[in-house]
Amino acid sequence: MKYYSTNRATPVVDLEEAVVKGLAADRGLFMPETIRPLPKEFFDTIDRLSFHEIACRVAEAFFGEDIPKEDLDRIVCDTLAFDCPVAEVEDRIYSLELFHGPTLAFKDVGARFMARLLRYFIGKRGAGRTVNVLVATSGDTGSAVANGFLGVDGIHVYVLYPKGKVSPIQECQFTTLGRNVTAVEVDGVFDDCQRLVKSAFMDSELCEKMTLTSANSINVARFLPQAFYYFNAYARMKALGKASELVISVPSGNFGNITAGLFAHRMGLPVKRFIAANNSNDIFYNYLFTGTYSPKASVQTIANAMDVGDPSNFARILDLYDNSHERISSLISGFAYPDSRIRLTMHDCYAATGYLLDPHGACGYQALKDGLQPGETGIFLETAHPAKFKETVEAAVEAPVAIPDRLAAFMNGEKKSVAMSADFSDFKDFLMRQ
Ligand SMILES: *Cc1c(COP(=O)(O)O)cnc(C)c1O
Repeated sequence: MKYYSTNRATPVVDLEEAVVKGLAADRGLFMPETIRPLPKEFFDTIDRLSFHEIACRVAEAFFGEDIPKEDLDRIVCDTLAFDCPVAEVEDRIYSLELFHGPTLAFKDVGARFMARLLRYFIGKRGAGRTVNVLVATSGDTGSAVANGFLGVDGIHVYVLYPKGKVSPIQECQFTTLGRNVTAVEVDGVFDDCQRLVKSAFMDSELCEKMTLTSANSINVARFLPQAFYYFNAYARMKALGKASELVISVPSGNFGNITAGLFAHRMGLPVKRFIAANNSNDIFYNYLFTGTYSPKASVQTIANAMDVGDPSNFARILDLYDNSHERISSLISGFAYPDSRIRLTMHDCYAATGYLLDPHGACGYQALKDGLQPGETGIFLETAHPAKFKETVEAAVEAPVAIPDRLAAFMNGEKKSVAMSADFSDFKDFLMRQ
């Protein structure tokens, strides 16, 4: 499969180059040249297939031309060492629980897949230079990427995070790992971390000395595998006899997750429509109403993994629908919620159903409450475990939130990080010494 850039100002590349480069040379996002629909028989019998079987079929449609089936199946199996089950919350509203992975957030799926795909390409090339993954994080991405790549031969991960600005739970998920993961504590804010990473990619001396790549959701190897669990959700709903008028509500920030759902839809997944649920960062919501895309500086909210003022994957959505606002707004509707509403939603849902929402999933749930039409069944993506946002959730629901064992295990580890100034020359010196 060849991948083209959404800016169409650079030649197409193969999968390996798309994964290692991340972003196209013209700053566009890579898109597969064809999105192959899956046959009707697949959907007719999908409810009898396991999550693994479904994911292997979907992976084959994306990557089957580039990777032999047995290798690809192994990558998929290694990635999905945990389930993404559907839970009924109340009549007509279901939660697709994406928090059963190592860091209790949906990003585990994409990060683990990308790590294994990269290892496959490195192995094929034979012994060579280590691939260095640089990732700037405000909390959640760093832990998913660090854990996804942990112990993978031939890859070293540097997680840059702002000192004192990530929660203790988030921090211990990438500072206690050791092995091939180095945490870099930057004396600055998230934007400084991102600037250091971008400067490193643009520094020719560094790029000559070491192979550098990024692992954020613009990478095709991180966002495409997220389609797996949309197919699985459909299968599980079909088994329940509830799949006829499905609406999927996706808490969205950089819009990688919902874009994977739109790819699934293009491949024939029988979903009636999608909802993009936002916090106060309502850029996409405004686009749906006005047809004009006006990026803004992000504002801080309690659903902080969705605090994005210029969602990268919007370019992919425009590309999928030939820039047609009419096509986009007829398939996707939007809702945007302030923190006060998110808190109330967590409270009311818990009081009425006993189901604990995290602040991100709460946006998805509320959008179904507000947007579901008669005859429709809704699924929202519960993108993180509520314990990752313990204080916020406990205050909202007025009840204690238990910490799962695998989260507690991180908190017992010893924190190790490299202190770094926000000055690029210091970061460059550090990398040159590695
Ligand atoms: C990253 C993240 C999101 C947003 O996903 P996008 O793909 O960026 O839209 C939502 N919820 C949680 C918990 C996240 O970590």
